[in-house]
Amino acid sequence: MAFKIRIMASHGKPGRGPVPRIIYKAEAYEEGDQFRERKWQCLHDHETVEHAFNCGMVWLGDQPGPAPGGRVETA
Ligand SMILES: [Zn+2]
Repeated sequence: MAFKIRIMASHGKPGRGPVPRIIYKAEAYEEGDQFRERKWQCLHDHETVEHAFNCGMVWLGDQPGPAPGGRVETA
């Protein structure tokens, strides 16, 4: 089963400014899981979606199995 990456946004710790800080975390779920249960979440507080997504892609690259976007065909 291949993993898919999604990005979750949430409020970070209160900052000094008046604008609430939004942080982003990468999460992985199994492709084909109808409930999209979270299998992994990165431990960082990313400030942009791009950073979080790249973090997820790096994690994905470290996983055994098919390459990201790849598929396993079974007879
Ligand atoms: Zn991360």
